[in-house]
Amino acid sequence: MARQEFINLEHVGEFGLINRIAGIFGGQKQPGLIQGIGDDAAVVKIGHGLAMIFTTDMLIEDVHFSLEYEDFFDIGWKSLAVNLSDIASMGGRPKWGVVSVGLPVNIPVDNVDKLAQGIASLARKYQVAIVGGDTVKSPDRLVINIALLGESAQKDVLYRRGAVAGDALFVTGKLGEAAAGLEALKTGRQISKLLLKRYRRPEPRIKESALLVKHKLASSMIDVSDGLSLSVKFICQQSKTGAKIYLDKIPLNRQLASNNYQQALHWALNGGEDYELLFTVPPPKIKKALGFFPKGLIGEIVPGKKITLLDQNNQEVNFKNSGYDHFKK
Ligand code: ADP
Ligand code: MG
Repeated sequence: MARQEFINLEHVGEFGLINRIAGIFGGQKQPGLIQGIGDDAAVVKIGHGLAMIFTTDMLIEDVHFSLEYEDFFDIGWKSLAVNLSDIASMGGRPKWGVVSVGLPVNIPVDNVDKLAQGIASLARKYQVAIVGGDTVKSPDRLVINIALLGESAQKDVLYRRGAVAGDALFVTGKLGEAAAGLEALKTGRQISKLLLKRYRRPEPRIKESALLVKHKLASSMIDVSDGLSLSVKFICQQSKTGAKIYLDKIPLNRQLASNNYQQALHWALNGGEDYELLFTVPPPKIKKALGFFPKGLIGEIVPGKKITLLDQNNQEVNFKNSGYDHFKK
């Protein structure tokens, strides 16, 4: 009998694993399905030119958050923010959510209230109704999963795959601030309130997304949840293009950049949890996009496959292209 080969998660990595699972779930043949596995959210036709946008994200204690650094309100807030960000990255309007929690039995009820209040507060801000969920016991760690539905005119949905050579690459805001906040929490280093807030209470870019849709400025979009380099890689892979990134144009926190530029740049490229949007803009629309995001232009989509990082002298720089992978060491 052939010996069963044991392949562990570390070996395939998070994205290799998702590809395997996608293969098992099979093709995406159902009528009405526009986008299945492979973008920030799934997209389904619902008639009258409308599309439903569907996403889910799970946060686990000591993987995505630690009770040492964040309070329950923050954790609730973030668990919805990460889902809102995925709807925003598709150009959608978030509408309805369901919230499932796995709770260790010793958790004080007050803390569960705070968790729910964190979710409710962000839900109110973006007119999302929480319409259900599930509550179960967890052996020792807190688990939260939210699934969120949004909608959009079908023609307005933005995918990772729409970039074309010649398009400009834009981001909605500063990168690397959340990673700096987390690092300060871990090391106990003094850091500004703003940076801590960027980590603890990320603001999903719903308004920016709506603006891009309203003015039809973007050809593709993704959120920056695991570092800029990984987001650019996904846009390029799905659009079958390459890209140039002008490192000196990446919007950084001024204080962080002046303290240690290389570190600030590393956080922007490879740190996680900024939840800004990365989008591409066709040449005739670049001027208008710059009107809304004057410091947002960070690169260009080019033919081929290669992603090149350029310094201020247009020299190629080698930076490790990592980003966060749940299973790789
Ligand atoms: P994001 O970080 O933007 O939420 P992910 O990187 O988690 O996206 O997922 C990439 C794609 O793979 C998405 O389309 C997601 O829905 C899909 N996906 C991830 N995990 C699974 C799974 N266990 N089963 C089916 N699809 C999955
Ligand atoms: Mg995403």
